[in-house]
Amino acid sequence: MALVSMKELVVKAKEEQYAIGQFNVNGLSWVHAILDAAEEEEAPVILAVTDRLIDFLGGYKTVAAMVGALLEEKRIRVPVVLHLDHGKTVDRCVKAIDAGFSSVMFDGSHGPIDQNIRDTRQVVDYAAARGVSVEAEVGTVGGMEDGLIGGIRYADLHECKRLVEETGIDALAAALGSVHGKYQGEPQLGFEEMEAVSQAVGIPLVLHGASGIPLHQLQRAIRLGHAKININTDCVTAWTAELRKTLANHPETTDPRTLLTPAREVIKETVKGKIREFGSCGKARRWAEVN
Ligand SMILES: [Zn+2]
Repeated sequence: MALVSMKELVVKAKEEQYAIGQFNVNGLSWVHAILDAAEEEEAPVILAVTDRLIDFLGGYKTVAAMVGALLEEKRIRVPVVLHLDHGKTVDRCVKAIDAGFSSVMFDGSHGPIDQNIRDTRQVVDYAAARGVSVEAEVGTVGGMEDGLIGGIRYADLHECKRLVEETGIDALAAALGSVHGKYQGEPQLGFEEMEAVSQAVGIPLVLHGASGIPLHQLQRAIRLGHAKININTDCVTAWTAELRKTLANHPETTDPRTLLTPAREVIKETVKGKIREFGSCGKARRWAEVN
């Protein structure tokens, strides 16, 4: 199946109170692992590439070609979105769309809201004409974002409403206490603020920095309108631990397949676990029936 836009998937997920998992691509084996996990769980899935890593991975075209080819070679049947995460500029979002990404996030959250709205609207105009979905952000997710380490700044309700109404985005990332990377102590999402934002904007919400958030809080976030949940830290942590173990257990080996396959397997298992937690397992079946 060709890549699909994120829009219909998150609207349906919100209606039925589950969330689509977004998992970051950090190399070829990540694409294998995430696609295999989604296929085995019969779940729609979002492959994301953070804009920060685009050059490391070889550019937008390389990423889109790699994902497109693997969808075909592996005969993937579940709906798959290729999403640009934290797009830095309007220009870079346009480049990703031209290269074949089926969804983009424009992150203008660090600038003034009027600028964020103007830029996001430009991205939406370009994307919507090409059937590509758009996510945008208000507030600051804590920890590492765009290569900057910072504190949490809660999304302002009025700004959320304006961004959604004045741009026509498909999903909103409203910073409500989550953190990119590892949490210090127990994560505390702002559920009161979340409920207010969700009611005010009406469109599906996106939870960034969801690694390490306890299941009961994730489930509550889903009930309050989160239909897309972003996971990276849990996957890279599991991958790194497994790779270290394999290297230690095979000190003489130089075979890349022997060294990298177990790490690929743990990414797959981590993704499968998240898909089940988010309630999106089996949801690709019904999606295929109606589309
Ligand atoms: Zn993020």
